[in-house]
Amino acid sequence: MVNESTSATTRLRIAIQKSGRLTDETERLFKNSGIKITESHDHLLAHAENLPIDILRVRDDDIPGLVMDHVVDLGIVGENVLEETTMQREVDGLYTGYRRIMQLNYGDCRLSVAIPAEKEWHGLKDLEGLKIATTYPFLLKRKLTEIGVNFKAVLLTGSVEVAPRAGLADAICDLVCTGATLQANGLKEVETIFESKAVLIARDQELYPEKQAILDLILPRMQGVMAASESKYIMMNAPRAKLAEITAILPGAENPSIIELEGSPDRVAMHVVSREKVFWETMEELRRLGATSILVVPIEKMLG
Ligand code: ATP
Ligand code: ZN
Repeated sequence: MVNESTSATTRLRIAIQKSGRLTDETERLFKNSGIKITESHDHLLAHAENLPIDILRVRDDDIPGLVMDHVVDLGIVGENVLEETTMQREVDGLYTGYRRIMQLNYGDCRLSVAIPAEKEWHGLKDLEGLKIATTYPFLLKRKLTEIGVNFKAVLLTGSVEVAPRAGLADAICDLVCTGATLQANGLKEVETIFESKAVLIARDQELYPEKQAILDLILPRMQGVMAASESKYIMMNAPRAKLAEITAILPGAENPSIIELEGSPDRVAMHVVSREKVFWETMEELRRLGATSILVVPIEKMLG
């Protein structure tokens, strides 16, 4: 059992999305960072089994406010929701301070304007005087005000893409990932107004020392998980004479380890960490340079 009276000062409290597009990746990030969370998806509060960390599972829209109101220490949320909520809270006269700790490598999406597919498009100025359905009126207004375009926001929190067909709006401004939903609703994406990823944010007050110590422990781990997911471990046998050429074509490769191959003085084994994706084209180029037994292996964790 966790003693609630001391937990406020000693246990790091993190808000995450209860169920949605950020949930699986966030849970994977915690797991790979060595944070074991009890499986209690229907509970608001979950405790980590092995570290003094409490996880608050909420709707993503509530996360910026919980951090800004100092109810939780950390939160993971999309930049789209973070920016929109910040502007909304400014208008409402609420506190908007927070610290941005780290951008995460998931939750990629874009906020775009879409119009009926048969309509012509010349640019954002075409939106002058139109009704635009959106969940993000502040992000949209910020962009259109910059270029002096007036519009009428139709606020919808779901099914934004059906608004034009239903006669509720002339255009929409919604999150897009593949564009398939737009197409299915007879719309075309014409302009991106905001690009978003998930971010880790913290309350802007100093943390209690016990909590800061936990953050100092988990942050390098999370950074290690991020770095690892973008890196690959590459092994191959290669002609000694081609080592420089091979290193040059490997993206983001650092000091390869060269290992002698017993009985073949002209060839060596080469192990290298590449900080970027390795494409088939790169592997085929390696083979042309005389490399054999080329293996590209995912890396789970990285430190140092
Ligand atoms: P909630 O019930 O928590 O309010 P929601 O329906 O508002 O959920 P989701 O659709 O789960 O939200 O999206 C959460 C966040 O994930 C979005 O605000 C955005 O930052 C990001 N996101 C949206 N679409 C995608 C996508 N296709 N892939 C990855 N991330 C996405
Ligand atoms: Zn939401």
